[in-house]
Amino acid sequence: MANVWEKISSKEKEEIFSLAEEYKKFLGLCKTEREVVNYITSLAMENGYKDGFNYNEEKLIFSDKDRIVAIYKRGKRKAIDGFKIIISHIDSPRLDLKPKPLYEDSELLLLDTQYYGGIKKYQWFSIPLAIHGVIVNKYNRRQYIVIGEEEDEPVFTIADLLPHLGKIQKDKKIDEALPGEKLDVLFGSIPLDGEKENKVKKNILKILKEKYEVEEEDLVSADITIVPAYKPRDIGIDRSLIGGYGQDDRICVWTSLKALMDIENNEYPILLLFVDREEIGSFGNTSARSKFLYVVVKRILEIEKSLNYYSVESALYNSKAISADVTSATNPNFKEVDDPNNSAKLNYGVAIVKYTGSGGKYYSSEASAEFTGYIRNLFNKHNVIWQTGIFGKVDEGGGGTVAIFLAEYGMDIIDIGAPILNMHSPFEISSKADLYMTYKAYKVFLESE
Ligand SMILES: [Zn+2]
Repeated sequence: MANVWEKISSKEKEEIFSLAEEYKKFLGLCKTEREVVNYITSLAMENGYKDGFNYNEEKLIFSDKDRIVAIYKRGKRKAIDGFKIIISHIDSPRLDLKPKPLYEDSELLLLDTQYYGGIKKYQWFSIPLAIHGVIVNKYNRRQYIVIGEEEDEPVFTIADLLPHLGKIQKDKKIDEALPGEKLDVLFGSIPLDGEKENKVKKNILKILKEKYEVEEEDLVSADITIVPAYKPRDIGIDRSLIGGYGQDDRICVWTSLKALMDIENNEYPILLLFVDREEIGSFGNTSARSKFLYVVVKRILEIEKSLNYYSVESALYNSKAISADVTSATNPNFKEVDDPNNSAKLNYGVAIVKYTGSGGKYYSSEASAEFTGYIRNLFNKHNVIWQTGIFGKVDEGGGGTVAIFLAEYGMDIIDIGAPILNMHSPFEISSKADLYMTYKAYKVFLESE
C-alpha cells in the first residue's frame, strides 16, 4: 500500500489533474439520476452507441424511464462466455418534495420535503440549495426545472435555530433536535396584494404560473429534488482533493464510463450498468433488483442469435463483475471508528473491498479468494495503485452495495471504488489521485482477458 503521489511519474501527475477537471464538469452538471442518464446517453450517442432495443450494432445503449441505463460493447468473445460488468448507482442522498409541498407559515412560504437515503439531517440546514426536477402538467407534458445553479438565479435554504434560543435543542439527541419533519425549505415571502389568507402562497403560485407555467396540482405529478446549490471545488492549498455533492457514487459512474469510452479492443463483451434507488435499498423498477439487466442480456443474446432456454442464465453466470461503489476513507477527526490497518485512506488509490455488510458480515456479498486474487494480480500487473477498504470497526456500523443482487446470478463480483471522506454529506471529498487510479482500475478490468 502506497501513497499515489509518491509513486507516480510527472506525466501521470499531469494526467491526474486534467482528468479531475473533466470529472468536476460532470459532477457539477449531474445532480439527479435523470441528469446522469442524460449525460450518459449523450456521451454514448456521440461515441456511436445506438439504441439497443431497436438496433443490432456492436455498440448499444439501453435505457428505461430515464433512471436506469446499460451500455454494451461487443468483444471478441460471445456474450454466452460472460460479460465484464461494472455496475454503479446514479442516485445520491437528497431531499424530495412531498406531493403537496407548498405551505405558508408566519407569512413565509415553505416547501415540505422528505429526505431520500441516509443523511445527517443537520448538514442540510443553513446551506444554499437548488431545485432540480421534472413536472408533468395537465396536458401530460413534461417540463424540466433547474433553479439555483446559475449565479443570477435565487437559491433556497433551510433555516436553523439561532444559538441564543437553542438551549433545549442543544441538550437533545442530534436526530431529535433536528427531526426530518423540520427539513422544510424557504421558498418565498412577498404577499399578494389585497389578500387576507395564504397571501404569500397565492403570490408564489402566481409567479409559478407566470414564469414556469406550473400549477399547484402539477406538483403532485413531479419528481422534484432539493440538492446543494454549489459547484464542485478543489480542496487544499495543493489542489489535491475535490469537494462536491453526489460523489457517492458518481465518481464510480464517471470513471467507469470514461474507461469504457477509452477502450479500443476488448476480449470479452462489456456491460456497464447504471442503476437508481441504491440509497434506499435498491427497491423499485429502476433499481439493481429490477429485471432490467436480465432483459438487456436477453436482447444481446437475441442479437447474437444465441438465445435459448438456458443462455441468459449462462451468460450471467459466466460474467465477472465489479460493483463500483465508494468506500469510506479514514477521517483524522474521527479515527476512533476505523480499523487503521484495514480502512481505506485518501490518496492510497482505488479500494478493493472484499466484503461489505456490518457486524458478523450480515447482508453482505463477499468475493472469493480466487476472484480477489485475480483482481489483485491484474492491478499489480498494470501498475494500478490499490488499497483494501472495509467499513470501519467490526461493530461500528457498516454499509452494503448492489453486489448482493448480481451475486444471485452466480457471477463473481467484488466491490471496487474510490475512498470518500465526508460520505453522504452535501459536500463529499475525494482525492484526484484516487479518481485516476479508479479510472485505471476499471479500464484494465474491462480490457483484460
Ligand atoms: Zn454508494
